[in-house]
Order: sequence, then C-alpha cells, then structure tokens
Amino acid sequence: MRPFDYARAGSVAEAAAAARDGATIIAGGTNLLDLMKLEVMAPDRVVDITRLGLDAIEPTDAGGLRIGALVPNADLAADRRVRRDYAVLSRALLAGASGQLRNKATTGGNLLQRTRCYYFYDTAMPCNKRNPGSGCGAIGGFNRIHAILGASDKCIATHPSDMAVAMRALGAAVEVVRPSGETHRIALDDFYCLPGDTPQVENVLEPGDLITAVLLPPPPGGVHRYRKVRDRASYAFALVSVAAVIRMEGDVIAGAQLAYGGLAHLPWRDRRVEEMLVGEAPSVDLFALAGELLVREARGQGANDFKIPLARRTLAAVLADATGLEAAK
Ligand code: SF4
Repeated sequence: MRPFDYARAGSVAEAAAAARDGATIIAGGTNLLDLMKLEVMAPDRVVDITRLGLDAIEPTDAGGLRIGALVPNADLAADRRVRRDYAVLSRALLAGASGQLRNKATTGGNLLQRTRCYYFYDTAMPCNKRNPGSGCGAIGGFNRIHAILGASDKCIATHPSDMAVAMRALGAAVEVVRPSGETHRIALDDFYCLPGDTPQVENVLEPGDLITAVLLPPPPGGVHRYRKVRDRASYAFALVSVAAVIRMEGDVIAGAQLAYGGLAHLPWRDRRVEEMLVGEAPSVDLFALAGELLVREARGQGANDFKIPLARRTLAAVLADATGLEAAK
C-alpha cells in the first residue's frame, strides 16, 4: 500500500470540499482498503467521515424512510420498520457479504462499491475501468461472473451490490450534498451509468458530491422476495439475483416491482417485464414469457452464457413463489 494522508472530517461541508479537491472518502472501508492494498486505488489523501453522525433511520414526511449514509448494513437489515415494510431490502442485505462485513459496511459505501471483476483487481492486466484505453481483459478472457445485459465492447463488468438491487426495486432515491451546501436527490433509476465508452464513470456523482442518505418511498405493501443464485450459500456475489415486490388483487397481479443483480453494470430494472405482468393472473406460461422478455437482448460472453437461462428461470421461480403459484402446484 502506498503512503497517504489521513484526516477526519468535522462536517459534511468539510468532507464534500475535501472530495471536490481530490480526497478519497472512507467510511466502513470494506472495499476501499482492499483496493488500496492492491494499488488499484492509490489516493494521496483519505478523509474519514465516520464521525459525521449520518447513522439514523428516520421516517420522512412523505411516509417513507430516510436511511443515513453511515447506517451499517447489519443495522439496516435488522431495523424493525425495514423488516416489516421493506422486507425485500432486509433480505437483500442479509444475502450480502458476511456478518463481520455487514457490521462495518455502510449504506452509502454499499452503493459505491466497485465491481469484483478479477481483471479490475489485477494491475498486471488490461482494464478500461481501472486504466481507460488499456483494453478489457474479461472480453475473451475468464468472464463467468460478467454481464449479459447493457454491456459494451469496453467493459462487461457487473455491479456487486445486493442492497442496491432491492433499493432499485423499491424506487429509492439518493440524497447528495454538494460542496456549496446544496442538497439534491437523485432517483436510483438515474444514479448508475452503463459502461458505454467510459466504464470508469460508474454513476452521476460530481466531484465533491457526498451521499448523506437514501430515501425510501412509502411502504409498497405486497409480497417481498429476494432470491440470490451464487456459487456457495454465503459470502459470494450474485450470479443472478431477483428482488421482487408483488401486489395481488384477488387472483390478479396488481403491481410488480422487479430488479436484478449480477446481470449488468448496474442494478437492472426492466419496466416492460413489470407492465406485462400487471392485470394478469399468475400462470407458468406468463412467468415463462416474463423470463423470455427479461433476457431478450441478453448477450453472453462464452463462460457466462449460462446466466441467460439462469436469469430467465430465476425470475419465473421468484414470480411463482411471490404470487403463491408455487404453493398452489
Ligand atoms: Fe475492466 Fe470492465 Fe473489462 Fe473487467 S470487464 S477488465 S472491469 S473493463
């Protein structure tokens, strides 16, 4: 690890100003410290925000929840209101990482964690995300964990977060403070970028933007599911995951909010799939069609071709479970 200056921010404004001036922000450090040890990131200055008090979960005037950026993943998963009203989020958090990591990892940091593409972490290999213009080791390389949707010929990495997948399904927004002190909100739908020609740009934050909270809308009701398919039962990233909030009225699907992990450079959402489900009665055929629609534009890279049928079947299985079709069989 290379030497760096360390400072503790005394206020949000101070942290935002330091970030604007090129400092790297640290909170839980569960991803950043690995990146620094491997010299994938080598900041000159690291500013610690852990004493800024952004660790409350509070009700909002709109009837939702405001989750402070420094709320640990473990606390968020265990919060009574989250477990009751946003169970998909609690389940996604508990599917991520390990108990020790969830105690340290923060809400804001989870949103900003970097891809686990092997080539990104190996500084001897080309990687357009780490070193723009150097090429992509994963294209034509070992790409079993890589993207099947929204990738480009510059980068096929996936976003590793489980939490962000559930938040996207819930319609969350990110609260950001700028160095000027101005606060603004960015819908999670608009927060992440596809890789395109600039895979090093992962989100729409500008220099000095500091995430202070995540805002959840009022509880959506319905049945919540988070299913994560991975190589082992714990402490593994998703090959495919599905976050689902399904509302039924009688025998008909009245609402469907769905997001997917392990498939793309960002937590994926496809409104076409949700729209085709609403107003329909659950059936094996309907859910098979939903799976087909989800992967209609999917493209495998060889070693990850299996993700296409896996995503299709996982979505169909989650929908059968959430609508009671599975139990009725
Ligand atoms: Fe780098 Fe993206 Fe290629 Fe991985 S997939 S090597 S992160 S450019």
